[in-house]
Amino acid sequence: MNFPDSKQIVFILSGSPYNIAMSETKYIFTTGGVASSLGKGIISSSLAKLLIASGYRVAIQKLDPYINIDPGTLNPYEHGECFVTDDGAETDLDLGHYERFTNVRTSQANNVTTGRIYQAVIDKERRGDYLGETVQVIPHITDEIKYRIQLLGASGNYDFVITEIGGTVGDIESLPYIEAVRQMKWEMGSRCLVIHLTLVPYLASSGELKTKPTQHSVKMLLESGVQPDIIVCRTEKHLNQAIRNKIALFCNVNPLAVIESVDVETIYDVPMLMLDEKLDQVVLEKMQVVNSKPPDLKSWEDFLFKLKHPVGEVKIGLVGKYVELRDAYKSITESFIHAGAENQYKVQLKMIHSESVTDSTSDELLKDLDGILVAPGFGERGIEGKIIAIRYARENKIPFLGICLGMQCAVIEFGRNVLGYKNAHSTEMNAATPFPVIDIMEEQKKVNQKGGTMRLGSYPCTIKPGSKIWDVYKTAEIVERHRHRYEFNNAYLAEYEKAGMMAVGINEQNNLVEIIEFMDHPWFVAVQFHPEYKSTVASPHPLFVHFVKATMLYKKSQSE
Ligand code: GLN
Repeated sequence: MNFPDSKQIVFILSGSPYNIAMSETKYIFTTGGVASSLGKGIISSSLAKLLIASGYRVAIQKLDPYINIDPGTLNPYEHGECFVTDDGAETDLDLGHYERFTNVRTSQANNVTTGRIYQAVIDKERRGDYLGETVQVIPHITDEIKYRIQLLGASGNYDFVITEIGGTVGDIESLPYIEAVRQMKWEMGSRCLVIHLTLVPYLASSGELKTKPTQHSVKMLLESGVQPDIIVCRTEKHLNQAIRNKIALFCNVNPLAVIESVDVETIYDVPMLMLDEKLDQVVLEKMQVVNSKPPDLKSWEDFLFKLKHPVGEVKIGLVGKYVELRDAYKSITESFIHAGAENQYKVQLKMIHSESVTDSTSDELLKDLDGILVAPGFGERGIEGKIIAIRYARENKIPFLGICLGMQCAVIEFGRNVLGYKNAHSTEMNAATPFPVIDIMEEQKKVNQKGGTMRLGSYPCTIKPGSKIWDVYKTAEIVERHRHRYEFNNAYLAEYEKAGMMAVGINEQNNLVEIIEFMDHPWFVAVQFHPEYKSTVASPHPLFVHFVKATMLYKKSQSE
């Protein structure tokens, strides 16, 4: 990076126990106004993608203003999918977008909640770190927030840290975060920049785009002492120059810093859109970064081409109990987009509510599918439907992928219907089952707190040579991410293998079954881990790529 002023800035946080020697990392904040769900995560990810494509090192983090320590204890109705990182952090689903767009791994440091901030401050207060002081929102909470923002930068690994502030400007719970941004802007000058994402609604009755909500939300930000540098306007119609000038004038920004983010066909178009709008150039100029290379987006364009020009289509059923929620299986649905593009095939997902699958509905619901995926999950609801869907896939030789609870259900189904284990179950759903084919992991038996205590994050798995899954990974040692408490009960393994359901991936440290394969079937694979967390545009997950290939072959075989 070529910055005009390369002198190291030593920044001491006022009155706090921290003293961070800053490198030249630059800090970009994204705030949201007018409405939630405008896509701050996608704008942040797209900007990161452009900067990375110009050769910079970029991290993105999300600050969430709610009081839970992490989203691991929230159900999908509240918060969509919980995304799990390599280091076992249960995080906001936006971190999934960050990884999928940038191919840069995230960690606990990339997602911080108000709960975590307060917990850290209260722990320090009890330890005596602030002896004699009154502990207050300013400076103690804001210092902790600033510390968390600068933690990634202090690693020296990043030229830019993009911090997305969750919620909408004006929310009471966002105030300490906005105050921390104000302080950092004041202290660091051009090393900090604020991008404010707002909505410019179109009023069909008057045939006009309206800028007033944007003006009001910028005013609200100004009341907190923060002048945004760039306004990104989410809109369903193009902004003309007059609208851009009006927003610029009322919000004190250059017209070139009014960026249009018009609705697009796929979120993966947004980096190209931001390139056209020169978001990256405006950012670099404002942060006084000179001599940047133009972004190299060749492989991204190749991906978009294959995504938009499929040579065929397959239909895959996703069986889960939260299918009515768009974000509940986000990483899975995105993994299918990556895997579809990799095969230059369109994957049409049929979302099937597991409670709707019964012996009498299964044929109607599942007969037109080229593949079936049974989703992860917790608890009793919808379990029997998942088991019926798996039986249908197994008996009709439809390609099948089971993930986490989906693998556990495949084991239960096989136990009940092939091995004749009447009422076989997981002890999660039925503690008194005569055949506990899925049982609680030994180390989980002593766990009595729910938050952050599952088997979380990356663990190794060894793949048996000669298995079908070997052709997928083409290596013996893999590492995948986990989020579970229950496991395959090894007391039954010999019986399963005799009947053709093989354990082909094992965690050798604790002898845990990680992957099963059913031999008498063209493609029946189930995994205890979550491959969906590791699929990115640059590196589509091989399990999804091969599953989609299997569905393509199945479809072909059906038409012959
Ligand atoms: N409920 C199961 C367990 O805890 C599966 C979890 C999941 O699907 N993520 O083991």
